[in-house]
Amino acid sequence: MFSALDKPLERLIGDRSAKAMAKVFGFHTAGDLLENFPRRYARHGELTPIKDLPIGEHVTLLARVVSATSRRMNKRAGEIQEITVTDGTHQISITFFKQPWRLNQLTPGTQALFAGKVGFYGRKMQLTHPECQLLEGDDVDEDLARAWAEKPIPIYPASASMPSWKISKAVQAVLASIDAPADPLAESWEGASELSFTEALKQIHEPANEAEYELARGYFRALEALSIQTISALRKKAVESTAASVFPREGELLQTFQNSLPFTLTEDQQKVADEISTDLEKPHPMQRLLQGEVGSGKTVIAVMAMLQAAQSGAQAAMIAPTELLANQHFRTIVKLLGPDLAAEINPVLITGSMGQAERKRAALSVVSGTSRLVIGTHALFSDKTQFFDLGLLVIDEQHRFGVEQRERLRAKGEAPHLLVLSATPIPRTVAIALFGDLEISTIRTLPSNRKGVETHVVPLFEKPNWESRIWARSREEIDKGRQVFVVCPAIDPTEVIAEEKSAQSGDGGDSRNKANTDEIDFNAKAEIQNVTETAAMLRQTKELQDVRIAEIHGQMSGEERDEIMAAFTRGEIKVLVATTVIEVGVDVPNASTMVILDADRFGIAQLHQLRGRVGRGEHPGLALLVTHAEPGSLARERIEAVASSNDGFELAQMDLELRGEGNILGASQSGAGSSLKLLRITKDTELIQEARDRAFALVDDSADLAKYPALKEWTARVLDEEQRQYLLSS
Ligand code: ADP
Ligand code: MG
Repeated sequence: MFSALDKPLERLIGDRSAKAMAKVFGFHTAGDLLENFPRRYARHGELTPIKDLPIGEHVTLLARVVSATSRRMNKRAGEIQEITVTDGTHQISITFFKQPWRLNQLTPGTQALFAGKVGFYGRKMQLTHPECQLLEGDDVDEDLARAWAEKPIPIYPASASMPSWKISKAVQAVLASIDAPADPLAESWEGASELSFTEALKQIHEPANEAEYELARGYFRALEALSIQTISALRKKAVESTAASVFPREGELLQTFQNSLPFTLTEDQQKVADEISTDLEKPHPMQRLLQGEVGSGKTVIAVMAMLQAAQSGAQAAMIAPTELLANQHFRTIVKLLGPDLAAEINPVLITGSMGQAERKRAALSVVSGTSRLVIGTHALFSDKTQFFDLGLLVIDEQHRFGVEQRERLRAKGEAPHLLVLSATPIPRTVAIALFGDLEISTIRTLPSNRKGVETHVVPLFEKPNWESRIWARSREEIDKGRQVFVVCPAIDPTEVIAEEKSAQSGDGGDSRNKANTDEIDFNAKAEIQNVTETAAMLRQTKELQDVRIAEIHGQMSGEERDEIMAAFTRGEIKVLVATTVIEVGVDVPNASTMVILDADRFGIAQLHQLRGRVGRGEHPGLALLVTHAEPGSLARERIEAVASSNDGFELAQMDLELRGEGNILGASQSGAGSSLKLLRITKDTELIQEARDRAFALVDDSADLAKYPALKEWTARVLDEEQRQYLLSS
């Protein structure tokens, strides 16, 4: 009854292991486990380069023991075992608590695999309590050691409770016991690979040599590309056969709004407004991504689109990724509309933190249709909000929203037109790979009144005494009546511990950059700048005497944050010390200066987003990227790239090249429900294009993929039930 890949894991690897797989990775079926490909392959004697280990992630490390010692703990009873291991060049320290026998097991010279999370203790990299598997010595697993000597060892993305070698064992058991699954490529794309599906599965998980896994990866790269493009072809098809309301551009509301704008639209704005207007006049739902630099004026364009829907009597909704932004959009839009238009279409705000009564009232005006413009957060996804007649959905800052969510929300209205706004410039190749079902409009130029942002690197590595200059420069701006953002990677020094806890309970904080301190000495100063301590420090800084300084971050309540943001917008707060909560869309034209501490902790796109928060008004912006990174290091190169260019598209391309990674936009984007696995956008451009042509031909030939059952099964695995219904039933 189950096809091979759908077979539940408990039938294949036993209850206990299956439970662990489900708990740790969310794997339930043979397919889930088998599609979890090795991240890389290690070979005997090939030690893992320690200096490249990603901080804060689970790694599997092959290393040689240099020394093993025991010492008393500072604040507790018992001893701590410290093992130093090497890759031949660099060292990392490994600590165990109260496991004295480790000293006999991990004697100097021993080679072993270690699996754990990479952290820092002081300036030293450290693995705490890793799982450990010896590769030589007395109590070695014979099979493992032999295999190790002969063939590549698959290294899987692991977790502390499920090290790579245990995954490997489970995969082997599954491969040995399932029937050969049907081959999705053979039936749909001739010549894409010389391997069969079964061979490819075997060779990617248990290669006898390097050539085998290279070929197998080739198979799955092609299948991944085909699968993504098939979904995108299905989406396009589904949309094209769906009817939507027609919203003519001629109308009173839009006309009034355009006449009242205090500025003229830039050429690009005019062009994209026209593209959108044209889409809204068609009887099928628009599927459009509007991308444009931070500050390029996307909001006005979105408002125009919403008015085009509203003037025909329909409703338009705009969704923002945070409450902060929803509130801000609401204020901005009400102001842009002016009192007359606002009275006519009655904009309302719906967010999760609204009081019961207030929320009810707002929801009522949405369901009754008295409000034709709705602004909100995820709260709009909740079933409590029903629309009277949702004609247009605008999603701001798409990178926080997955395709699934888009579709879920869309399912609430008839078939609303969709406009997605993005300030993350997307290179064309990425757009094809990940947003194949969306048309793209681009605003390239900023309004000409914009003064732009001047960006400097402040290299504390070479010039530690420049720090006071940062605050002197900030003071000059404040004395001119301007305001300053100071951004830190962490919230407070204890975030580490909160972070550890939340990693266990499965929810995350808003800061992506994790510090990691020794569980015992958690009072040790974290190396990463944090909001709490920075704000305290600034209050003591003589350059900033008598200046009002406030903090804002993701652990505050929405209400608290709104209050602070409002006070900052009013100009009462002069210096706002923040985490990346301010990254997306915050608009305070009077803020001129952006100081980013530990800038090397942020990615290129993030830095560019952050600095886009200043220089938005009539005053030129200043961004100071403060770093301790050494000249010549990759981290430093990233920062210098950002300082050297103000062109978001150029930076996106650089980012793509520096990272060489497909996962440039985060997991929820690919439209396939997960991030790219083997596909690399920079390298696989041609393959992606071929797969696209192939996929559109397949869907043309067989709209519900009935002619391609194995491809259909493979592709449908990443879709939820609702999407399957929507995309695959003809
Ligand atoms: P984005 O959402 O693209 O980051 P916004 O829509 O928030 O940018 O626009 C930033 C600021 O520029 C707003 O204050 C907006 O009113 C203003 N603006 C938009 N278009 C123009 C224009 N053509 N000329 C001058 N100012 C503009
Ligand atoms: Mg915006």
